[in-house]
Amino acid sequence: MLRFSDFAGNQAAAGALQEALRAGRLPHALVLEGPAGSGKRTLARIFAAAALCLGEGEKPCGTCAACRKVEAGSHPDLFTASGGAAAR
Ligand SMILES: [Zn+2]
Repeated sequence: MLRFSDFAGNQAAAGALQEALRAGRLPHALVLEGPAGSGKRTLARIFAAAALCLGEGEKPCGTCAACRKVEAGSHPDLFTASGGAAAR
């Protein structure tokens, strides 16, 4: 499972999302905007996994039940909507 430390894209965006998680201040919605291939989908997936992670320490831990379900695409609280030109 990818973690924030593996993310090679926009570090400021990744840092802001990590800080929101640490502070327990998750917004009700986020918009990640950027050019194709800039890592928006990857960052969204890491953030979602971290928000759902039940492990201790760095999140996502990659080993808890929630992380395994996210990785398998079967977590009931994670839905990936596809559509529009960017999702082709
Ligand atoms: Zn976890």
